[in-house]
Amino acid sequence: METLYRKYRPLDFDSVVGQDNIVHTLKNQIMSGKVSHAYLFSGTKGTGKTTVAKIFARAVNCPNEIGGNPCNTCEVCKASLEGADYNILELDAASNGNVDNIRQITESMQYRPINDEKYKVYIIDEAHALTGYSKEAFLKSLEEPPEYVIYILATTDPGKLPETILSRCQKYSFRRIGIDTIVEYLKNICVKESIEIDDEALYFIAEKSDGSMRESISKLDRCRSYTKEKITKEKVVDILGMVGDDEFSLLLQSINEGDVEKAFDIVGSAIDRGKDVTQFVNDFIWHIRNVLIAKNVSKPIESLNVTRTNFDKLKKESLNISKDTLIYYIEELSKTHGIMRYDENRRVMLETTIIRLANPETNYIDASVMARIKRLEDDKKNMTYVRIGDKADTNTLKPSDKADDGKSATKKDKIEEIRLSKLAYDEINKVAENWTAIRSSLDMVVKSILIESEIVPSETKEPGFVQVLLSEADYNLLQNMDRIKATEKKLSESTKNIIKKDVTYKIIDRSKTKYADKIEFKLDDALDKIVGIEVEIEEDDK
Ligand SMILES: [Zn+2]
Repeated sequence: METLYRKYRPLDFDSVVGQDNIVHTLKNQIMSGKVSHAYLFSGTKGTGKTTVAKIFARAVNCPNEIGGNPCNTCEVCKASLEGADYNILELDAASNGNVDNIRQITESMQYRPINDEKYKVYIIDEAHALTGYSKEAFLKSLEEPPEYVIYILATTDPGKLPETILSRCQKYSFRRIGIDTIVEYLKNICVKESIEIDDEALYFIAEKSDGSMRESISKLDRCRSYTKEKITKEKVVDILGMVGDDEFSLLLQSINEGDVEKAFDIVGSAIDRGKDVTQFVNDFIWHIRNVLIAKNVSKPIESLNVTRTNFDKLKKESLNISKDTLIYYIEELSKTHGIMRYDENRRVMLETTIIRLANPETNYIDASVMARIKRLEDDKKNMTYVRIGDKADTNTLKPSDKADDGKSATKKDKIEEIRLSKLAYDEINKVAENWTAIRSSLDMVVKSILIESEIVPSETKEPGFVQVLLSEADYNLLQNMDRIKATEKKLSESTKNIIKKDVTYKIIDRSKTKYADKIEFKLDDALDKIVGIEVEIEEDDK
């Protein structure tokens, strides 16, 4: 069956919706015969760039042009509609943008249009994907195109095109298509196709299509082919494997109220319906982002892409949650989303994150948590340092006084009290180097809790003992699960296996350790490969 998108693709300018200014200008150019040689159509996907380019390409050569529109009945138009017009050449730079293809184009440029038509039109889709030599070759051809050549470059990312190309084009930016326009268009299709659908479902599809007409029509198409019954919003959610905003609202509310059970129900039900977990987290982050924006603006703005009614809902939802909390949720979920790509057990990861977010201790955003998030953002490096020393003095600590030979240790009075013996230093370094591997023997839930752990030497500074610092919230979580002792034991076993050393671990609440205010740490970003430790070495202990 022909797809709805193909069937209802506009064939003339007057049927294009949502791009009135562009269409108006192009029609005028065609009627007056004053067309340019290079156009740049930019805008997000599904906003009509290629459709308009094709109509334009037909219109410039159509002998019966009517008010700027192609007639679509003459031989020229028909050939083009059948994809058999040799004067219209389309190239998708993303898949075919290699030098040879570009060379073909530039070479074909020297031949006049066949059948005595006026123009040869080159439509380059995804033009930003042109690279290296192709870009250069293309640029040359743009410099002085013959009078019968018209280029139309379509791109979602004009910023990637060099100024030399941009400056030669007439530029048109295609707007995201408004929700009401999309709904009206879909309604029209439904009438013609006898598709039964209610308004709520139409608005839902439009909202979830991010301003893309193509996306909305293809969503409608999928619903239509799935059911012959009346399409409701619930059916759309079901058929497209989506999660409704109401569900996300409820999930956000449950987490904020610390109701883990309810939150798990919602997640479980979405997963049971076949929703991909990574996508679920992504969509949930998007929902929270919308709530956050709604909290900060007084009326629906374009980037929200929601109806007035749904804006009011978001606004109301936002009143019960602080801005900091919303930001914190987004940060934490984004972190989880990032790690998920590398881990099999996605559902457990999501559930663990929910426990953390719903836990009242972590729910409370104090300055230190915000600072940690900030630090995480700032931490561009994969390397994670645990610095031991007087905080005030950390700036003077050089990144490497490693002194493996024990000779080049420098004196720093302020950190004297935590100097280690060479033996203890080597040992903790070894543990640090293998921390990811050591931790990997833990079960998924505990591993997730330990993602932000730091390891430090024991307070006795003796070899054979290592402390694992957790945030107060993480520590409490582990304690509530009654897993402290078992985890310590597991870490010891794992260490014995991996670095062949007997190490006794002690998991402690970071806020209770006397090191806490002496350790300048950067958050272990969970994908850490290396945990670097910088400590001073007792000079006379070699
Ligand atoms: Zn025609």
